[in-house]
Amino acid sequence: MTVTSVSPVPPGGTIGIIGGGQLGRMAALAAARLGYRTHIYCPEPDSPAAQVAAARTVATYDDAASLTAFAAQVDVVTFEFENIPADSVRLLSALVPVRPSWRVLEVAQDRIGEKQFFNDNGIGTAPWRPVTDAKALVEALDAIGRPAILKTTRFGYDGKGQVRIGPDTDPATAWAEIAGAAPAADYVPAVLEGFVDFAGEASVIVARGLDGSMAVFDPVWNVHTNHILDTSTVPAPLTPAQIEEAMAMARRVADSLDLVGILAVEMFLTRDGRLLANEMAPRPHNSGHWTIDACVTDQFEQFVRAVCGLPLGSPERHSDAVMTNLIGDDVAGWLDILRDPGAKLHLYGKAEARPGRKMGHVTRLAPKTG
Ligand code: AMP
Repeated sequence: MTVTSVSPVPPGGTIGIIGGGQLGRMAALAAARLGYRTHIYCPEPDSPAAQVAAARTVATYDDAASLTAFAAQVDVVTFEFENIPADSVRLLSALVPVRPSWRVLEVAQDRIGEKQFFNDNGIGTAPWRPVTDAKALVEALDAIGRPAILKTTRFGYDGKGQVRIGPDTDPATAWAEIAGAAPAADYVPAVLEGFVDFAGEASVIVARGLDGSMAVFDPVWNVHTNHILDTSTVPAPLTPAQIEEAMAMARRVADSLDLVGILAVEMFLTRDGRLLANEMAPRPHNSGHWTIDACVTDQFEQFVRAVCGLPLGSPERHSDAVMTNLIGDDVAGWLDILRDPGAKLHLYGKAEARPGRKMGHVTRLAPKTG
């Protein structure tokens, strides 16, 4: 297969997706609507994505022979999560177009690189310092103050790999907790962030095509429970100026990264009305699931369009929406949800409802107000 980095992948082609979770599943469904086949690559034998895909490879993310065989069977490769080994992305990129590029994943994989990138692009964040050891943590705490949050630089999600440092927390204990959570490697293991006493959390999702065109969804208001996204509500209770600023922030990030694909920027709204970037994810995002039911073109179709080099669709929102995640045993309420004729239920095909596991979501629409 020749590497054609600029021509579109026409319908009928095969999109290779690394990762087999619900994001891959909903991307595969969107791809199918546009006439594409998807090939899911992940280590789990019965993944939510592979259940709805044309082909699957069950192998680890560092299996060079399986990655090479996978690349030969697809027209383009993308990801439904960002923690892919660098060597694997390099291997794939030599064989087939990979969108988004390694550069985008590299920035998003590392909390320090990500915050530096935000700041370099004029985007505010909580104050932060890299932390390499217990002594550096004490120095960083002196600089930033308490409360603060110590986070592993990599592989954190849904609040994993984070310790809150209050007035009485012993830095040595906090460090031991984080150092134990960080996988051994040769990178700076942690970052200390000032605690943002936020009025709320918002996110913006932007798609950017091969030609640099962009489509931005309305900012959404996110409420987390136990560090896991609970609800996303749109319209977000932001002023018109904040909405414009949030959308401009997402556009700036996507442009500066030369993104081809889709990207979410999560941000805090401070009590004095400023927007601070928290993190980014260069893939479809949980806070964008409402777009399936409330927008002309949803985030998954936009993702497929961008990755295949097609024109982007309209991100216009036709309804107000509240998306509620179904976590763990919440999914047992599926029948009651279906009894509400206005509720749009999405289940991910996961057999076991473990605590904290995202099993599905439900979106409720209302006439558009703002
Ligand atoms: P993260 O893994 O960085 O997305 O953090 C998960 C959640 O922890 C965020 O959505 C916030 O609710 C909270 N959080 C993370 N960082 C901070 C911070 N610097 N200040 C206040 N809350 C935070």
